[in-house]
Amino acid sequence: MIDVAASTKQNLLDLDREGLECFFADTLGEKRFRAHQVMKWIHHRHVTDFDEMTDLGKALRAKLQQHAEVRVPQVQFEKPSADGTHKWLLAMDGSNAIETVYIPDKGRGTLCVSSQVGCALNCQFCSTATQGFNRNLSTAEIIGQVWVAARHLGNVPHKQRKLTNVVMMGMGEPLMNFDNVVRAMSVMRDDLGYGLANKRVTLSTAGLVPMIDKLGEVSDVSLAVSLHAPNDDLRTELVPLNKKYPIAELMESCVRYAQRKRGESVTFEYTLMKDVNDQPVHARELVRLMRDFDNRLQMKDAAKVNLIPFNPFPGTRFQRPEDAAIRRFQKLLNEAGRIAPVRRTRGDDIDAACGQLKGQVMDRTRRQAEFRKSLEARAANGGVDASP
Ligand code: SAH
Repeated sequence: MIDVAASTKQNLLDLDREGLECFFADTLGEKRFRAHQVMKWIHHRHVTDFDEMTDLGKALRAKLQQHAEVRVPQVQFEKPSADGTHKWLLAMDGSNAIETVYIPDKGRGTLCVSSQVGCALNCQFCSTATQGFNRNLSTAEIIGQVWVAARHLGNVPHKQRKLTNVVMMGMGEPLMNFDNVVRAMSVMRDDLGYGLANKRVTLSTAGLVPMIDKLGEVSDVSLAVSLHAPNDDLRTELVPLNKKYPIAELMESCVRYAQRKRGESVTFEYTLMKDVNDQPVHARELVRLMRDFDNRLQMKDAAKVNLIPFNPFPGTRFQRPEDAAIRRFQKLLNEAGRIAPVRRTRGDDIDAACGQLKGQVMDRTRRQAEFRKSLEARAANGGVDASP
């Protein structure tokens, strides 16, 4: 029933089907199926004004006005690329902004979605890492990116499908924002949402082992893992998280994920950096790792490699290998029987390629000042945490 004390409106974009049904039943005292009508208005027809939801009675519309809202992210600016790629800079709170990129290709349209403002993982070759971490995005802010793109594209699920795939490969580490990401992915897959098949929603992670297991328990989405190096020494240098979850543990968790999904492969992303991880010795080590993965699952091509030529950004110490070096690396994998497509660089004229998403994380300075202050307070206190 209606909680008269509640002063803030519920943003309906924060709820998946189950949450919305509960909101209708428990908060509004309405039939659960009303939630289905509202979902279709929001995600299929991109309507945010309850007055336009004409198959709802007047009284229900008034109740919704009072207790709910559909608050979508504000487009700060958008930029089309010469190759059809489209990038949005979406304003979050204050001076924070995140990026979302649409990449059309033959017969498909992929949206690259962000999960956090900034990122805490500090992968050495990623532009997002250079700006530090501010906060997790809410479910509304994650699914809101899909909403903005779908409206722009005139996407109609099951009919005029412009948006066929979503990859959680924008800014942030999705598994560090687990609940909100899982809820948003459930709307992406829902027929009342964007109706995408499991296979067409991909979560990419730098390798948070316990969360990969947790994901396997609640979701069936495709898994991509940012490997980037075939041995621990090199990987720890490039992806510091590897120190905590080394390759052997990471591969074990991927085996468990694939076993749960029976018959599905795991994609391993490998960003090629000149003279760092692009040598024949690395290709051979990578082949061994992938072969071992296939053997564990007793399935050919259980491990898929995706090669990503490094995308440069200002201030980086890494370089993209020459085309010949990329081809040589790919050939070594192919000769060992592995399919290893090179991910074509798209939208690089608008800085929309992998690892180039930067958004704006202005509040970081404030957060960092607060953090420094708390450290100083702790030091003044003889190393004891002074916070309550
Ligand atoms: N945090 C998630 C999503 C990140 S972005 C993850 O780590 O998987 C998606 C992919 O782009 C990741 O594989 C990431 O390592 C890669 N990437 C990051 N910076 C890059 C760059 N400058 N050039 C090419 N690929 C990059």
